[in-house]
Amino acid sequence: VVEFATGIPHLLKGEFSAGIGEGMDCFSLRQPVGVCVGITPFNFPAMVPMWMFPVAIACGNSFVLKPSEKVPSCSLRLAALLHEAGLPPGVFNVLGGDARTVDALLTHPLVRAVSFVGSTPVARHVYAVAAAVGKRVQALAGAKNHLVVMPDADLKLTIDALMGAAYGSAGERCMAVPVAVAVGAIADPLVSQLAERVRALKVGPSTDPAAEMGPLISAEHRARVAGYIDLGLEEGAELVVDGREISLQGWEDGFFLGGSLFDRVTPRMRIYQEEIFGPVLGVVRVRDLDQALALIEANRFGNGAAIFTRSGAAARQFGQRSQAGMVGVNVAIPV
Ligand code: NAD
Repeated sequence: VVEFATGIPHLLKGEFSAGIGEGMDCFSLRQPVGVCVGITPFNFPAMVPMWMFPVAIACGNSFVLKPSEKVPSCSLRLAALLHEAGLPPGVFNVLGGDARTVDALLTHPLVRAVSFVGSTPVARHVYAVAAAVGKRVQALAGAKNHLVVMPDADLKLTIDALMGAAYGSAGERCMAVPVAVAVGAIADPLVSQLAERVRALKVGPSTDPAAEMGPLISAEHRARVAGYIDLGLEEGAELVVDGREISLQGWEDGFFLGGSLFDRVTPRMRIYQEEIFGPVLGVVRVRDLDQALALIEANRFGNGAAIFTRSGAAARQFGQRSQAGMVGVNVAIPV
């Protein structure tokens, strides 16, 4: 985004239309909007702010970043780097705080535009409040991405991809894959081979070079994710691997959870419908590609979707018919 923004003067050229009326030309001129605000989530403390401020600043605006209160230090480091690079004071600002700070920014008369990335309930709130007072606002929210496994998929490739997509960053990614949709007879081998890999997942702190997955962001979030595992059992899903059983020697108070795998998840279950945002993968079994596509269509989230198949026809159909924002073919996280 920074590289894109450094080339922006070319894109900011105005337009000129000669002779729109007798003796009259017309031109358009791009002007800065003013103070732009970015409200960002905890899970990508450098990347998400950097989707926003390079473009805002290169277009002549000033920027106020309200980072997640869970990860304030990264924003301050970005500010120090921008200062060191010679950005004038007041152009990039970091404002710490929580929901109250956000609400004050959304209604502040000097704020002209708001970019938000975070969970769906907060995105709705930000969108409604900022739009109601006439701000430009974009709000990117939560997800429940599906990965469809066709009967002809390369199972090893699919399982490697699912392990990264479901359990990478402990599932705390908006493009993570928490739902595997197994089409037809591939379900049994998929679940049994996945289970082996999930059980072998090495959980540990970032200081352990062998660790494949770290802890969750907070004790509250760990409890929330573990609560969804309890809920899945109550709802009748089959818990094939239980990540709640993990205890790391020397890190007993850490916010660790092992990888969990549910089989026979159904669309009426809350563990299917809601964003868990943790290392929990659910397998939904369907008959055919039509049923898989209908499932994705009916889901209220739509960040991304993927299909694993060797069939060009199935891949093409999926690309054409899937309504998700980003679609992967033999790519689990099509960002
Ligand atoms: P969050 O919604 O809890 O917080 C996001 C921001 O909103 C933070 O700065 C927080 O301080 C603020 N906030 C929290 N509650 C608020 C309230 N009631 N009123 C006003 N502001 C409030 O999200 P999070 O837990 O930090 O991040 C995880 C979420 O972000 C997940 O849902 C994930 O899918 C989503 N996400 C989406 C994308 C995307 O591109 N669509 C990218 C990354 C993360």
